[in-house]
Amino acid sequence: MGKRYKTDFFDGIKIVGSKIFVEHTKKALRLLKKKTPGTYKTLVLKHLRCIRYARVSQVNDAGEFRVSNITAYPDLAWYASSIVHEAYHIELGARGLVDSGTSAELKCIKVQIRAGLRIGLSNKWIEHLKTRDGTHWKSSTRG
Ligand SMILES: [Zn+2]
Repeated sequence: MGKRYKTDFFDGIKIVGSKIFVEHTKKALRLLKKKTPGTYKTLVLKHLRCIRYARVSQVNDAGEFRVSNITAYPDLAWYASSIVHEAYHIELGARGLVDSGTSAELKCIKVQIRAGLRIGLSNKWIEHLKTRDGTHWKSSTRG
């Protein structure tokens, strides 16, 4: 957390991290904006205020998505679909629904797959999501 971190904005979403992280995040947002504009507007722009590089991925109700290497870097479309997933957690909370736990995860995964198919997420990742049973939140990182 030092001088090498920079701050930038994309459509009003604050992005904080290394230059590479900021550029990568802007690419992911641009991908969503282009390929799934409805989801981008009604979920991502509506709920996310800040995307910040961190050691562990986590989202909070204030709309801050902390993003770790394992979320951001395996694949651009994976990262973009994860942004949708996290925004949907906040959407559930905003609707007064349970926003964490197994059934919430399954809802978020469903929305993530739908967005993933639109943005060209590869089959490998789609299958990975389909095999998730919604209990991954029990492991150390909430995703
Ligand atoms: Zn989740």
